[in-house]
Amino acid sequence: MGMPTVNAYATPALRAPFERTAIERREVGPRDVRIAIAYAGICHSDIHTAREEWGSIEYPLVPGHEIAGVVEAVGAEVTKFSVGDRVGVGCMVDSCGECPRCLAGNEQHCRKAVFTYNSRGKDGIITQGGYSTHIVVTEGFVVRIPDALSLDVAAPLLCAGITMYSPLKHWKAGPGSRVAVAGIGGLGHMALKFAHALGCEVTALTRTDAKAEDARRLGADHSVATADGTAFKQLRGSFDLILNTMSEVSDINAYLGLLDVDGTMVNVGLPEREVSVDLTTLVIARRSLAGSNIGGIAETQEMLDFAATHSLGADIELIGADQIDAAWNRVVAGDVRYRFVIDAATFA
Ligand code: ZN
Repeated sequence: MGMPTVNAYATPALRAPFERTAIERREVGPRDVRIAIAYAGICHSDIHTAREEWGSIEYPLVPGHEIAGVVEAVGAEVTKFSVGDRVGVGCMVDSCGECPRCLAGNEQHCRKAVFTYNSRGKDGIITQGGYSTHIVVTEGFVVRIPDALSLDVAAPLLCAGITMYSPLKHWKAGPGSRVAVAGIGGLGHMALKFAHALGCEVTALTRTDAKAEDARRLGADHSVATADGTAFKQLRGSFDLILNTMSEVSDINAYLGLLDVDGTMVNVGLPEREVSVDLTTLVIARRSLAGSNIGGIAETQEMLDFAATHSLGADIELIGADQIDAAWNRVVAGDVRYRFVIDAATFA
């Protein structure tokens, strides 16, 4: 018996438009969960990957690692989920499960981590992501979406949400923390929401004032335009934590100067070019420059539960599968408020 095929949207070659296709999903194994996908978010990393900006890939590519849906079948040994459960899948679908990183709940740093698409699974097959009607995932990499969250606004939490929640928790942001969020896009808007819900004093740093009103609505106490440079003088030494969501930072040293003593700037974007850091800026105030990449599975569940408690989902623009190419161009242009989500019914 062949493997079941499901409908999906793939880009068949470099910079080729999306087209409907059929892909194989594995049979439901003893520990597997088969998910009927309801919504798939569009992440900028889908685009970087498909356009080979992070290295060459195999085509056709079915991207998508912000998946929300409903359990359709479970294997005989599955204990965490039942048919009908509302669930999500993020950037990873497997890891070794044995290394110190996995045992510490940092599966995202496992050297054998299997990512949701464009990654070789334990079966040797290249994974295909959430721009499709169904996915089969081992239960350990499936998380529960609480009833209080709609599946459409929950989908982007699986990547954008955890990407911002994890550093806020790791660097112990809470009541009284002075947190700045640089760049108010798909990631930044989630950072504002989570930082606000955690009780921080939140400042949005944007190039212009165009998003100032949005920033306040999303949870910022203050919104500051950075384009003319005066903010870097006025706000020098003002923050405990800066979450930088921009992949290109024109002057990272100016941002580092905004940190107070013991402050940390955390980068979550992947810049295409190297940046030059003035170490003196770090030394004179015991500042830190750090990075963070998504989060582990347990932390992703914690993030979803926290989001549900605070009625906190992504701000989304819902589209159909025939709009993916246009949506991607708008993501690259920074023209989305704040996350595209694809209605998976349109993949069928
Ligand atoms: Zn992502």
